Amino acid sequence: MRPSQPDILIAGAGIIGASLAWQLARKGCRVLVCDAGKLGGEASWAGAGMLAPGPEYEEPGEWLDFALHSLALYTEFVGQLEEDSGLGVEFSQCGSLEIACGEEEFSLLRDRAARRSQSGIETQILPSSELLARVPQLASSVCGAVFYPNEGQVDPRTVSEALRAALPRRGVELREQTRVANLYPHGSGVDVRLANGETVSTTMAVIAAGAWSSQIAVAGYALPEGFPVKGHLAGYRLPPGTLPHVLRFGHTYIVQRTTGYTIAGSSEEHLGFDRNVDAGIVSGIHEAAARLAPGLLPAAPDDAWIGFRPATVLPHPLIEQLGESPVWLAYGHYRNGILLAPATAERLTKVLTASLGMD
Ligand SMILES: Cc1cc2nc3c(=O)[nH]c(=O)nc-3n(C[C@H](O)[C@H](O)[C@H](O)COP(=O)(O)OP(=O)(O)OC[C@H]3O[C@@H](n4cnc5c(N)ncnc54)[C@H](O)[C@@H]3O)c2cc1C
Repeated sequence: MRPSQPDILIAGAGIIGASLAWQLARKGCRVLVCDAGKLGGEASWAGAGMLAPGPEYEEPGEWLDFALHSLALYTEFVGQLEEDSGLGVEFSQCGSLEIACGEEEFSLLRDRAARRSQSGIETQILPSSELLARVPQLASSVCGAVFYPNEGQVDPRTVSEALRAALPRRGVELREQTRVANLYPHGSGVDVRLANGETVSTTMAVIAAGAWSSQIAVAGYALPEGFPVKGHLAGYRLPPGTLPHVLRFGHTYIVQRTTGYTIAGSSEEHLGFDRNVDAGIVSGIHEAAARLAPGLLPAAPDDAWIGFRPATVLPHPLIEQLGESPVWLAYGHYRNGILLAPATAERLTKVLTASLGMD
């Protein structure tokens, strides 16, 4: 059912915009979400889905706390989403291993683990014998690892499918193939101009268009620049249960779904919105992953794909109001948008419902 005038229009139905739409609707807001393509069709389709703040944040502080909070929200987020959608979401708190292949590196990882523990992250140090007992497919040269037992993985494609089913059940209108072009904030709300020429009036708007966010023009404001950082991933159809934890070694990682489907990553390229899959980069990822776990992977991947991480110049996402306007920003989640979706939705739901006088 189409809300006659939505309280909130969200530009972008990736995991950030769609999770927010769902949470706002659960609080009774009338929400319209417009996506230039399809729900969950971009970075949120491509992402590996590691839920692993431990190795991601060097320094303690607000954003590490935010990431840990989001990780802690995940079980409830998935449970509610499964209930609202009637669909299963692939999610497991399988723990992650940050692996060292040299003594010096292992000592650095142990120091880091000690700092992580002070930030409230549970860590365990595993010597090589224990590590190889858990993951015998690893290279015998591994020195040890830090184990983060509370981390895990989610298949973002199953999150998107569940959000697609849950949104209409909660009264959200989703309009796909509908690009948001311009926002015109005024005294009592925002006029949203769509690329098809239509104008929608709304009380507030949220820009959650991932790497494309700053292409949306907001009259009277300059948006912080967002840009894509392209990444490649490789996929393997393996028997289920062949890898118990997420593996990380430098820029290389391996994640296994409960179905057995296994993903190796990744790369970072600054090539704008270039959608080509580079076979050389895929072989590089495969070779690095196969060196780490030679007993796990077959001779070549079954699939390979790319996605555009939504970056800004900041080391954290933008989750804030645009000046004094009724426009809010929710982009720049870069490498961790899957992890940060529940906390982003929670934070914005609180402030937006308060602004609407609904809290
Ligand atoms: C290779 C790779 C590996 C990753 N691995 C992980 C990981 O392990 N863990 C993790 O937490 N994160 C990971 N990420 C990052 C994560 O995927 C992103 O941070 C997250 O998906 C961003 O979600 P989003 O909703 O902001 O953007 P997107 O999913 O890109 O969604 C933005 C949406 O906006 C739409 N749009 C664009 N322009 C407009 C417009 N003008 N009007 C309306 N709609 C518009 C697009 O069609 C799109 O659907 C990875 C990303 C990549 C590429």
